[in-house]
Amino acid sequence: MADFKLADRLATLPPYLFAGIDKVKAEVAARGVDIISLGIGDPDLPTPDFIIEAMKKAVERPANHQYPSYVGMLEFRQEVANWYGRRFGVSLDPKTEVIGLIGSKEGIAHFPLAFVNPGDLVLVCTPNYPVYHIATGFVGGEVQFIPLVEENDYLPDLDAIPAATWDRAKMIFVNYPNNPTAATAPRAFYEKLIGICRKHNVIIAHDTAYTEVYYDENDKPMSILEVEGAKDVTIEFHSLSKTYNMTGWRVGMAVGNASLVAGLGKVKENVDSGIFQAVQEASIVALRDGDDFCRELRAIYRKRRDVVVAALNKVGIACRVPTAAFYIWAKVPAGYGSSAEFVTAVLEKTGVVLTPGNGFGTPGEGYFRISLTVDTHRLEEAVSRIANL
Ligand SMILES: *Cc1c(COP(=O)(O)O)cnc(C)c1O
Repeated sequence: MADFKLADRLATLPPYLFAGIDKVKAEVAARGVDIISLGIGDPDLPTPDFIIEAMKKAVERPANHQYPSYVGMLEFRQEVANWYGRRFGVSLDPKTEVIGLIGSKEGIAHFPLAFVNPGDLVLVCTPNYPVYHIATGFVGGEVQFIPLVEENDYLPDLDAIPAATWDRAKMIFVNYPNNPTAATAPRAFYEKLIGICRKHNVIIAHDTAYTEVYYDENDKPMSILEVEGAKDVTIEFHSLSKTYNMTGWRVGMAVGNASLVAGLGKVKENVDSGIFQAVQEASIVALRDGDDFCRELRAIYRKRRDVVVAALNKVGIACRVPTAAFYIWAKVPAGYGSSAEFVTAVLEKTGVVLTPGNGFGTPGEGYFRISLTVDTHRLEEAVSRIANL
């Protein structure tokens, strides 16, 4: 048998943090325990019918069976621009400031290839979606983690980063509404970040997949592009995945600074051939006609959030009441040595799968994440099992 050694970039990846939990989950399931998984950030509800119907029509059109344009159909990019205009008051040139993505993960993962050389410094706010630092590592960039802590409302302490670090940095990854903490960022934070990044010539890569999952009209999350000067330094990654329950469809977009968008386009031109055009046509309908659906979806998540927050409070587990994103970020109760210890005990004794906070980075130690992607009845059942631990 040939023995093919993995490339160093894979061989040096940190071990999969949830491997231990997956093993325990398999053992518990084998005992016949009814597992409730609150671990995965994947909407449980189906894509709405009006999008499915648009897809059915689109898939029947032979023109859609050929290679799509690698930057995305102009009609799709135009609809993204319309949506950004309507939702955020942000004006975008669909030809130069919008690119279609095969899910925002694809764009985020490819973006460092366009702008990061080996040895370049990239700042990554953590706890975080792992793609930021792994994609940076793949291209040989140097990652410096910036901690997000409860005392600072899970915003990075920008003043604590020395000027020399800003001078050396090529890029900073920021994500609000945040996964896993569900924190959001106020305008003043973005203003300050943009000021610093313009001064020190640092790219802002903003991941904003959860702007449409919010709980109160007064707490609508913003796009960083709403802020004056943002377009000088920013690319924003967005996605239809969480907004319209379309995680399986693989469609998203990157918008903002034209040269950053073009750089990403140059990578994509050489590694993929764009989003299936039928998916783009259905996505146009989603973006154009989806506002009512989003309102209904928010009402469902609000009910789930309220059920979980109330139940956790009742059993004395402290948690943030999120204003956006479908996660509850909660403190590991006293008596457990670590996030992993608590999550493992809950799984072994109750069959409820939680995500340990440290899986997203060191500052997440002492916390766990609940995903609101199961129905209210199951959420109630899960929390009552935890209460009787
Ligand atoms: C779900 C998620 C995305 C979206 O991923 P897609 O590839 O668009 O499905 C991006 N960033 C974060 C932080 C997420 O949680």
